[in-house]
Amino acid sequence: MKDLRARCNPLATLSPSVTLALTARAKEMKNQGKNVYSMSIGEPDFDTPRSIKGACIRALNEGKIGYVASSGLPALKTEIVKKFQQNGILTTPENIVVTTGAKLALFEAITSLCAYGDEVIVFAPYWLSYIEMIKASGAKVRVVQTFLENNFEPREEDLVQAINENTKLIIVNSPNNPTGSVYQKKTLEMIAETAVRNNIMVLSDEIYEKLIYDNDKPHISIASLSEKIAELTITINGFSKAYAMTGWRLGYLTAPLWLVKRIAALQSHATSNATTFVQYAGIAALKGEADQEVLQMVQTFAKRRELICSLLSQIKQLKFSRPNGAFYVLCDISQTGLNADEFAAKLLEEKLVVVIPCTSFGAQNYIRLSYACSDEVIQTAVARIKEFCESLERLNQ
Ligand code: PLP
Repeated sequence: MKDLRARCNPLATLSPSVTLALTARAKEMKNQGKNVYSMSIGEPDFDTPRSIKGACIRALNEGKIGYVASSGLPALKTEIVKKFQQNGILTTPENIVVTTGAKLALFEAITSLCAYGDEVIVFAPYWLSYIEMIKASGAKVRVVQTFLENNFEPREEDLVQAINENTKLIIVNSPNNPTGSVYQKKTLEMIAETAVRNNIMVLSDEIYEKLIYDNDKPHISIASLSEKIAELTITINGFSKAYAMTGWRLGYLTAPLWLVKRIAALQSHATSNATTFVQYAGIAALKGEADQEVLQMVQTFAKRRELICSLLSQIKQLKFSRPNGAFYVLCDISQTGLNADEFAAKLLEEKLVVVIPCTSFGAQNYIRLSYACSDEVIQTAVARIKEFCESLERLNQ
């Protein structure tokens, strides 16, 4: 009898998302009545602004429920073009694809561009989904390490060393998950110049663009740096983090026309269009109808960053670099004597605090704490982490 499980394409060999699994576990424990403090959350703990919801409800009431152009509503594409212009990226509606979340935009871009024999450079610590997406395309992952001492920004010598004739793509994610790093202009220029010199594409994931907290670390789109790099860049963005719309599933990309054609064709056979009435909500968001709420959300995150950094600095067993964006702090736990998986598992068991072990983020001595949670959760959870680290120290003595 033939073996139905034998042979599959790279798409069928992926590992499930660890972050989603851990978040689910935390929810399950809460449902069992346990007082779990979760710092694993990867989404804003805010409601979607009322004006954005209103635009969606209006669209539904007006019967905007049918299929539309697979690559996106023309009116939304027009707003996306304007939005990219604000970032210094010149694009046209033909270069845009609206997707079911930024994740799908990333997936479609990577799988439309890369294949077996290609290499993709990813800076570690990285967001784990990039690795699986690259695997899905058949290409090989080439990891370039970044360091806490350097605010997790890549160094030229490390990048250059990783490049060879098979290098097809460099993935850039600033503001960064999991490090919270916002790349300086000179770092982005270095990456852009290296990419142009070696004829390598760049994928810039700018999903956390709005969540930045320091005037001297503004968000810069790499595609805005020169015409040459613009021709080589796929820029990805979405609504999840900026407008507290994670469950709505709406994202978008701009890319050179030759690649957009491939991506649009793939999407037309996979998901067709992103949900029609959700796209109307996207128009309201990009028109700035909720900018005031977004500003308040960012201010709240900025205050929480202060709180969590001041509390963490009192834990002498942990090392971290103050994040400039997103809502994560990456902590080096190597002084505790445990690896990240052991640390996270023990912490949950003993202190009911959920953190993300970054083993599958290319950082086995790091845990990621999210401050997309209330001040009370931050205070209690970090106090428990402190107790936990102190108890480990006593054990190690
Ligand atoms: N890119 C990064 C770095 C992320 O952290 C996430 C979500 O956690 C995404 C993309 C996906 O965003 P979306 O919800 O729009 O699919």
